[in-house]
Amino acid sequence: MGGYAPTYMRILITNDDGILAPGIAVLANVAADFGDVVVVAPDRERSACGHAFTMRNPIRVREVEGLGLEAYACDGVPTDCVNFAYYQLLNGELDLVLSGINSGPNLGFDATYSGTVAAAMEGAINGVRSIAVSLAMFVEPGPAYWDTADRWLRENLGAMLRMPFPELAFYNVNIPSIAYDEVRGTRFARMGLRVYENRFEKRLDPYGNAYYWQGSSAHMQAAEPNTDLRAVSDGFVSVTPMSLDWTRHTSLDEAHQAFFSRSSQPV
Ligand code: MN
Repeated sequence: MGGYAPTYMRILITNDDGILAPGIAVLANVAADFGDVVVVAPDRERSACGHAFTMRNPIRVREVEGLGLEAYACDGVPTDCVNFAYYQLLNGELDLVLSGINSGPNLGFDATYSGTVAAAMEGAINGVRSIAVSLAMFVEPGPAYWDTADRWLRENLGAMLRMPFPELAFYNVNIPSIAYDEVRGTRFARMGLRVYENRFEKRLDPYGNAYYWQGSSAHMQAAEPNTDLRAVSDGFVSVTPMSLDWTRHTSLDEAHQAFFSRSSQPV
């Protein structure tokens, strides 16, 4: 850990879209210029599983041939993949976790649902520098400019590794899914407060019974200034420093005082 970029690294690639997802190959190819790459990814799509891990069931892992690199498919979720790689496969000898490239944005509250981001969280918990990367389509399903993500990462992964990685911190990167020449630059942006509006839909099945569907599509709209959502909507790559410390520090004193003031000021 630290602000240096070592010339040799052991790099884990994972995602929540499954081991055959296109983003994983793009990320692995870029990472290969920076060190030894191993892929451990879910054997199927696990999007929106958040920071879940498998507790009551066994985890099975099989080596996958034919991807041109050392790769394993895991029947668990992304957090399981990170921990299998860290504890079993690599015995803690891991310098960098790259999660993604997710097929779709992880902006605003998406970060709290995302398995892609959760893998970076788990990397940070294990003390490993971790970055989540997503390709942000403006309307899903939209055109996926994997080439834009590939080029931006090739030009900027080295710079990202010079960024500070303090304890329990990681980065969430969203690359707009637009032609590379249209990308206006890179912005360091805070996490926005929401992405979706009215995303719970009621439908009828062929028998007339109601069922419900949520999160089926994301429509990005300009939002608060300085947010990840705004940056990507404006055509910038957003880089958001994230922390696993969920404490609202400014409330500690305030809440404490209000709680203990009961005895002296009965209502
Ligand atoms: Mn996903």
